[in-house]
Amino acid sequence: MPPRVLTGDTPTGQLHLGHYVGSVRRRVEIQHTHECYFLLANMHAFTTRAEKPDEIRRDTLAIVRDYLAMGIDPVKSAIFLQTEVPAISELTYLFAMLLPFNRVMRNPTLKDEIKVKNLGENYSFGFPLYAVGQTADILAFRAHSVPVGEDQVPHIELTREVARRFNQMYCGISDQAEDDDHEKLGGVFPVPRADVGPIGRLVGTDGKNKMSKSLGNAIYITDTLKDIKKKLAGLYTGRQTMTEPGDVKNALFDYVRAFVADPHRVAELERRYAAGDNIGDGHVKAEVADAIDALLQPMRERRAKYENDDALILDILKDGCRRANAICEETLSRAKDAARLKFFDRVIGYR
Ligand code: ATP
Ligand code: MG
Repeated sequence: MPPRVLTGDTPTGQLHLGHYVGSVRRRVEIQHTHECYFLLANMHAFTTRAEKPDEIRRDTLAIVRDYLAMGIDPVKSAIFLQTEVPAISELTYLFAMLLPFNRVMRNPTLKDEIKVKNLGENYSFGFPLYAVGQTADILAFRAHSVPVGEDQVPHIELTREVARRFNQMYCGISDQAEDDDHEKLGGVFPVPRADVGPIGRLVGTDGKNKMSKSLGNAIYITDTLKDIKKKLAGLYTGRQTMTEPGDVKNALFDYVRAFVADPHRVAELERRYAAGDNIGDGHVKAEVADAIDALLQPMRERRAKYENDDALILDILKDGCRRANAICEETLSRAKDAARLKFFDRVIGYR
């Protein structure tokens, strides 16, 4: 059996370059060798955007278009809606009982989001619950691997804890068992691993925070060369002249390394910048803008083909939901059996 993969995106906006380098690029590679499920976390989008259901719906469809544009093949990979897979919500409730409240609130990614998204003291009860929900997203598929950016690692750690606890509590797995042996020994859930690629955190065009849909510091795949140049122009490095030695650890050079395709050219730019060898930030930015534009051009063309075809996108989602439910219903049935909650068999279907 090929290893199973689950990952996804929250429809709080369209996909940006951070998503591509942090997760989607990897998904496009492994869809040929792994059994892949890609989730649109449209329920979790309500944690910060409940008053904007139309926007969530619009962005949900937009992300499917972004996936197709970036090279995800909906025949190979199932693309589905979190809200149409009831087993995920049911497991969320069950897993919430297995986790101390304090443990959930200790999650550094949640704390960080509360701060950078200015959620203050009045975030919804559902906001921290989404971290528990994410453990259910992953475990409902009994996924082995989760391709994500660095910010998601604490969520995967929580998921690993839930899997171990459930297997120990209800499947008789010893607390001495190796993580990789849980399934083999009769645990319902494998203990999944985060698959973080070489660029786990692409910085935003503010030069500070992670590139993020919610922070207005993102380059989207629909951006034109002009948009890209304008966004990069705002990236402040503090460097004043073409002869001042520059710091190649700055955000601009993160972009050079992420997007300039030729490694010899990257090395040359780094050398000249560090030496202050007659190279301005403007030169570097222009080269980065062209490199990003070359990456995005075929994506924009592919995306345009799906622009007005909602029916096609909905067909892809319905097919993905059917495939997702097939596996998640099986997982839920096994989990309910283990936790003595199973009384009847059931079937979920769509018309
Ligand atoms: P939001 O601001 O609403 O949290 P986001 O931009 O952080 O949105 P998510 O939907 O939370 O996007 O993340 C989807 C996936 O993309 C996750 O695996 C996440 O780690 C990855 N990702 C998001 N931003 C980046 C980034 N800047 N660099 C690398 N990976 C990223
Ligand atoms: Mg995020």
